[in-house]
Amino acid sequence: MRIDVLTLFPEMFEAPLKSSIVGRAIKQGYLDVGIVNYRDFAMNRHKTVDDTPFGGGAGMVLKPEPIFLAVESLRAKMTSSLTSTVSPKVILLSPQGRVFSQRVAEELASMDHIIFISGHYEGFDERIREHLVDDELSIGDYVLTGGELPALVVIDAVARLLPGVLGNEQSAVDDSFSQGLLEFPQYTKPSEFRGFKVPDVLLSGHHANIATWRRQQSLLVTWRKRPELLQFVPLDRQDKVFLETFGWKDNDSEPTD
Ligand code: SAM
Repeated sequence: MRIDVLTLFPEMFEAPLKSSIVGRAIKQGYLDVGIVNYRDFAMNRHKTVDDTPFGGGAGMVLKPEPIFLAVESLRAKMTSSLTSTVSPKVILLSPQGRVFSQRVAEELASMDHIIFISGHYEGFDERIREHLVDDELSIGDYVLTGGELPALVVIDAVARLLPGVLGNEQSAVDDSFSQGLLEFPQYTKPSEFRGFKVPDVLLSGHHANIATWRRQQSLLVTWRKRPELLQFVPLDRQDKVFLETFGWKDNDSEPTD
């Protein structure tokens, strides 16, 4: 997979893209990331990328020309090198976008090439939204100074889903949200620490009992911490009986008037 990021602050990507699992994914060739400074595509010799808003108001607005030219140059490069026949998906990072989630990470991980556009200052000239981008993503309902941290958040979540990136493929499957539930509790050695013991079932070596315990703990953790998620999870009879002992009610089976 290839990801290009358009930014005014390329230095913000240096350490995160060299470190840990994402760094290894890039080194081993599972992911190719390009960082483009769209100031390089500014139209005047002062390299201006922003200007005051028409109609007045606070802050500076990112001009359309440098961002259009940067995306077009990446597209042209892809076409001429024939590295991909699929045109890249162009995604604007913005607090107004659809909210990023594990589902969206899975959707992006299946793509060949994505171009992220990171904003700064007051925001983008609206023509960028209307005529250049395919999608708009937010990492949550709060406002950051720029799209660089959101781009890194999305790259990190997507990279760990690419086949081969995590040593053990099962760990991405068990992660919180991947099955619609939060992850079950995990323990490691020692089996007893300051008198606090690891649940016996995990030391039993009985795989079926461990699987049942983990499923039930995932249900319980989700019910206690994020109950609203349960409405999207298919529950079997055993799950329902288990959850009912903790005060959960099956709304589907309530009698209707
Ligand atoms: N005035 C804009 C608004 O109210 O929508 C906010 C601009 S913000 C200060 C500057 C840039 O940071 C945005 O253009 C966007 O690229 C990025 N940004 C800020 N918060 C974000 C979020 N929650 N998710 C994704 N990008 C964000």
